[in-house]
Amino acid sequence: MLRLILLGPQGAGKGTQAVRIGEKYQVPTISTGAIFREHVKNETPFGLEAQKYMKGGDLVPDELVIAIVEERLKEEDCRNGFLLDGFPRTVCQAERFDQFLKSLEQSIDKVINIVVDKQVLIDRTVGRRVCKVCGATYHICYKPPKVEGICDVCGNPIIQREDDSEEAVTRRTEVYIKKTQPLVEYYNKKGVLAVINGQQSMDKVFQDIVDALGVK
Ligand code: ADP
Ligand code: ADP
Ligand code: ZN
Repeated sequence: MLRLILLGPQGAGKGTQAVRIGEKYQVPTISTGAIFREHVKNETPFGLEAQKYMKGGDLVPDELVIAIVEERLKEEDCRNGFLLDGFPRTVCQAERFDQFLKSLEQSIDKVINIVVDKQVLIDRTVGRRVCKVCGATYHICYKPPKVEGICDVCGNPIIQREDDSEEAVTRRTEVYIKKTQPLVEYYNKKGVLAVINGQQSMDKVFQDIVDALGVK
């Protein structure tokens, strides 16, 4: 049983580590960004609304986000734990989420804060490529696919996300500092925060996370 939150700005390596953590501890990864992109792709009412914010790197309004996350966490596979990637992103979301967990007599075990310098974040997000179909993540320098432009996992084309332009990334960094950074102190006060140096190899970052969790 493990209930985790991954914290850190865009490009810190949350998605990359989420895949590894999910495999090792057998918990489902819930990535709000990925759920939202799926809605956008399918042009659902939520997707059409969310897209207005996502395109420019702004946050989707709290009420919409909370409803989607709560619905997802009520599903059967989350009963034995989960890993949240990209949620909560505001103090309002965190408070509402605490109430939700309390109503289920649950609590968060650990919040993993992945820390990376601003310049590295830009380098990582601008060089990021993702599979259009399965969402697997690559980097033009640090994690190129075996065949250029093609996903290793499913063989479909890999593309650059619309919000990984330098302009949108800069906007997202500002939004992160203002809206999400306060969560570091929020969870620190609760005594569940673990700080991880994200500027190391993907393997070393993962090892540090495993050590911080203290469960083998
Ligand atoms: P990254 O992986 O680059 O950090 P995400 O995939 O997590 O980005 O999120 C992409 C976009 O989806 C965000 O820029 C934001 O517009 C929206 N989004 C994702 N999660 C949330 C959230 N918890 N609250 C508000 N907006 C969110
Ligand atoms: P996030 O989900 O926090 O936005 P990602 O996991 O998508 O971050 O990583 C952003 C980009 O940086 C991706 O292209 C990924 O391949 C690359 N990346 C992730 N972790 C590392 C690392 N430790 N070293 C170098 N590149 C990394
Ligand atoms: Zn794929």
